[in-house]
Amino acid sequence: MKRNATTGETPVILTRDQHGISRKLIDENALKVLYRLNRHGHLAYLVGGSVRDLLLERTPKDFDVGTDATPEQVKTLFRNCFLIGRRFRLAHLRFRGHQLIEVATFRRNPDEEELPTDDDAHFHFVQNVFGSPREDAFRRDFTINALFYDISNFAIIDHVGGLRDLDERRLRMIGDPLVRFSEDPVRMLRALEFSARLDFAIDQNIIAAIDQRCQLLAGASRARLREEILELFRHGVAGAVCRLAQRYGLLDQLFPEIDFVPQTFALLDLIDRETLGGEPLRESQVLAALTLPLFVAACGDSRHFHINDALLLADKLLRGHCQTYSIAQGVRSEARELLVGCLRLLRGLGHKGEQRFLHHPLTPRIFDFFALWGEIDHSLSDCIAAWQTKISHSDHPPESVARKPRRRRRPRRHPQAEN
Ligand code: ATP
Ligand code: MG
Repeated sequence: MKRNATTGETPVILTRDQHGISRKLIDENALKVLYRLNRHGHLAYLVGGSVRDLLLERTPKDFDVGTDATPEQVKTLFRNCFLIGRRFRLAHLRFRGHQLIEVATFRRNPDEEELPTDDDAHFHFVQNVFGSPREDAFRRDFTINALFYDISNFAIIDHVGGLRDLDERRLRMIGDPLVRFSEDPVRMLRALEFSARLDFAIDQNIIAAIDQRCQLLAGASRARLREEILELFRHGVAGAVCRLAQRYGLLDQLFPEIDFVPQTFALLDLIDRETLGGEPLRESQVLAALTLPLFVAACGDSRHFHINDALLLADKLLRGHCQTYSIAQGVRSEARELLVGCLRLLRGLGHKGEQRFLHHPLTPRIFDFFALWGEIDHSLSDCIAAWQTKISHSDHPPESVARKPRRRRRPRRHPQAEN
């Protein structure tokens, strides 16, 4: 069905019989939240990615709720409500099984004269000015992310032409991409991510604006970029997005400390394949994947490479990226273990420390990781087969190794840097 795009005053509305979202597809707790808000006289919409995904017949990752109730009003309605954020006030409703429903009050972009002069305060301020549903739609990033599902009448409300873009499988920015990327450069990465996840074409004006604004990514919040990078891996699109980022000039801004070689993209593709097959990924694995091709190349003739030198090399390859993104020491050490473990496997059987390595709890994960590398370097197939036999015949499978008592560590000097 072709629909009219609208940027005028009246939204496009699809009534219950004109769309395929049934309440059976909506999470039970999200429905409870929507109904309760609505019963107490508030507007209650399903918003953001969940509406987009339901219309595309995909399973939403989470169900976010938009309302005209203030965070404080939401708190009075739900005992399981926690208001979070000092400046960015959001209501989190916690349910059994660690489930979280995020309830946000409709917001708008503030007028120019309302903006604080302090750059740091700017982003949070922009996020916190309450507005109408229509204003809330326009402050969002892409048209397909700005659709609402109204629980009072089960209608879809489209203020921005998102339904047309869903039909045409097109990623279109709300407003002028040059302005929207200047406001928040992280949106450039999100554009590539959604295009890869949904297999949508990116609007030409987004591509042109990325070309002009790519340098801004270097100044974006590293914490938010780190989270978006992890999202790429969680959704199994890291390889595809990194290729797009390279094509559009964002790769060096995202990974200033890592050299991408052809095997890096190939390894990310394989990791994505595993993720899509249901394997959850830890950040240490992400780091190891980004650096393994460089590590293997630097180890050269690995048979003679000493483990202590490998540790130093792994540290050197990981350090820059971990410092740029303030990644905790524990994550970095685990990534280092993965890399050095790959070297142990590369060197083949019969080296010092083999028994200890076989019994180490990380060894199965290292082996799986190394097996992916074997899909890129076919010369390793005999080596991998030999290790596989050795591991499966080991008297103590690695998981069953009794834990040695740990040495007590000195207290950390910067506990806030760890998470
Ligand atoms: P998913 O959760 O499946 O990754 P999503 O669309 O729900 O996708 P979130 O990152 O959860 O994405 O954000 C929720 C919604 O908030 C988005 O759909 C979008 O409307 C809005 N949003 C998120 N980030 C931005 C941003 N940087 N600028 C403007 N709007 C944003
Ligand atoms: Mg979401």
